[in-house]
Amino acid sequence: MMESALTARDRVGVQDFVLLENFTSEAAFIENLRKRFKENLIYTYIGSVLVSVNPYKDLEIYTKNHMERYRGVNFYEVSPHIYAVADNSYRSMRTERKDQCILISGESGAGKTEASKKILQYYAFTCPASEQVQTIKDRLLQSNPVLEAFGNAKTLRNDNSSRFGKYMDIQFDFKGNCPKVSSINDRSDWKMVRKALTVIGFNENDVEELLNIIASVLHLGNVQYGGEEGNVCITSDTQIKYLARLLGVNGAVLTEALTHKKIIAKGEELMSPLNLEQASSARDALSKAVYGRTFTWLVNKINASLTYTDDSHKNYSVIGLLDIYGFEVFQHNRYIFVGLKVWMWEPVQYFNNKIICDLVEEKFKGIISILDEECLRPGDASDVTFLEKLEDTVGGHAHFVTHKLADAKTRKVMGRDEFRLLHYAGEVNYNVNGFLDKNNDLLFRNLKEVMCMSENKILNQCFDREELSDKKRPETASICVQTLFTSPVSTSGYGPAPFPILFPPSLHPFLTSFSLFFVCLCLPFQAATQFKASLAKLMEILMSKEPSYVRCIKPNDSKQAGRFDEVLIRHQVKYLGLMENLRVRRAGFAYRRRYEVFLQRYKSLCPDTWPNWQGKLADGVATLVKHLGYKPEEYKLGRSKIFIRFPKTLFATEEALETR
Ligand code: ATP
Ligand code: MG
Repeated sequence: MMESALTARDRVGVQDFVLLENFTSEAAFIENLRKRFKENLIYTYIGSVLVSVNPYKDLEIYTKNHMERYRGVNFYEVSPHIYAVADNSYRSMRTERKDQCILISGESGAGKTEASKKILQYYAFTCPASEQVQTIKDRLLQSNPVLEAFGNAKTLRNDNSSRFGKYMDIQFDFKGNCPKVSSINDRSDWKMVRKALTVIGFNENDVEELLNIIASVLHLGNVQYGGEEGNVCITSDTQIKYLARLLGVNGAVLTEALTHKKIIAKGEELMSPLNLEQASSARDALSKAVYGRTFTWLVNKINASLTYTDDSHKNYSVIGLLDIYGFEVFQHNRYIFVGLKVWMWEPVQYFNNKIICDLVEEKFKGIISILDEECLRPGDASDVTFLEKLEDTVGGHAHFVTHKLADAKTRKVMGRDEFRLLHYAGEVNYNVNGFLDKNNDLLFRNLKEVMCMSENKILNQCFDREELSDKKRPETASICVQTLFTSPVSTSGYGPAPFPILFPPSLHPFLTSFSLFFVCLCLPFQAATQFKASLAKLMEILMSKEPSYVRCIKPNDSKQAGRFDEVLIRHQVKYLGLMENLRVRRAGFAYRRRYEVFLQRYKSLCPDTWPNWQGKLADGVATLVKHLGYKPEEYKLGRSKIFIRFPKTLFATEEALETR
């Protein structure tokens, strides 16, 4: 008996890293991952944190039966699964009445989007919904393939890489019957997208206009310039004809706008010819603007189709689901540790991302600020002067290097027009060419004017005439931010996104009484600064919620099933901070309850706290646990929470409550 148990453990490893005997050893950690991965056991816990390794093949673990199995069952009674995390958040939300969020991190291709879809499917299947809510649910599920069709791209690292961040609020109101959800097919072929568009309310005409726009972006990519400097022209008339038809604008006007810029000299409007480089930038800016704004339009349209108002659903709770890309920059990481740190008997090291965050985004001194400043500076500001400014300002930073500042070895792999950031997920070179333009997102006024005249209804809504008369900054394409920060030349092979692009949660404050509401937050319309602001706003939202974590790992770079590339995995274990996670959990206190929640729930077990505790919350909790007979090594009191070391302690207290 004993022996067979041992053999099983030898074969499949432990399902919670906390159970590893040699828990400080990274090698043991990775060995455990490997064993499980071999057996198709892709999920493993570190306490309540779920570690997931992308299997790169379909596993039979997401059936309705599986969903049923995890429903309402305690975390530790079933094998690790993404459904357990989803269910646990749901139950915490119900019992503690606190909004939850699930944060999914990992590098590109690690499985974040898949994980978020699984969570959505789980809620769609297990949570009750009225008929009206059901319609919203269907739209919600259908919006995924649409957003992916337009917002994802095939990259070196991921065939279906999210080029947009997504934050969803799923609202629950604890009412209705069990819904029937049609099975979800993830094949994102056109037929499916087409059908999905219908479900979210697109008619034939909308679809045609949308397709025209997508085609126009492709055609814009084919526009070639020729002619002499100072007199550039577009080499193919046919191209322009197609384009004009697709964009619903006049061909001659479009040609002029793609080769000239309107300037005002002595009070008069003049058309000044662009040189080759300017003309190419103008063309690229147009395609970015067209695509970016259309995507924003699509997101808004989807959000609108998901809007559901019904006063009976006022009392909702929320689970936020965050699917980003790239590696994690959350200062949030600290958030789970802060309350505990004082009490640790072994110091906990975790990656302090703040160093990199500050380097990039600190006010006045960070890279983004310097970029903004260079963009506003009249005169000779250029990408080169921007790089020089960086050298002057952040040149001494330990995570920043340029060709000039680098040692001989690094210099060999760096261009003179690059700077390198030493991210935890890897070292990444950024070429400064085009940074200023991209940050300004130059879309010449006359190109905007042309677009405002478009007969395509979607484009007409995307390019607003007000933008021309007002000083109001245009809502330009998000892609500019993405090309600025997500197409770095990766030197280490671990990339590509140095930090996640997230969308300003503009809709969030306006959440009303939707039972199930989906916010795919809109794009950072301007460049870096706005992106930064959106990140801060999102952080604020997340901080108000109780987090759960899913850490995704990519097993190899070739998208192959069954291949476990140890070097690649070790690197991710490092920068995802998994060993630190484990140390914290091993040191115990996997169970945390906020003082007020703990007191509220268990105060009836102690005459001194029942019914109305008058003193400080912390003192109330201290009195309560003393009465319950908790031993000093079983718990610690943090700043706002009690940390309980063993599950049995908490279960015993729960039992006491039931048998009271
Ligand atoms: P990015 O940051 O580029 O958006 P990501 O972390 O969101 O990457 P996904 O798109 O979720 O990565 O996953 C990449 C691919 O890996 C998926 O298209 C799918 O083929 C495969 N994959 C991920 N998770 C699973 C899973 N649980 N089961 C089967 N295949 C998976
Ligand atoms: Mg993704």
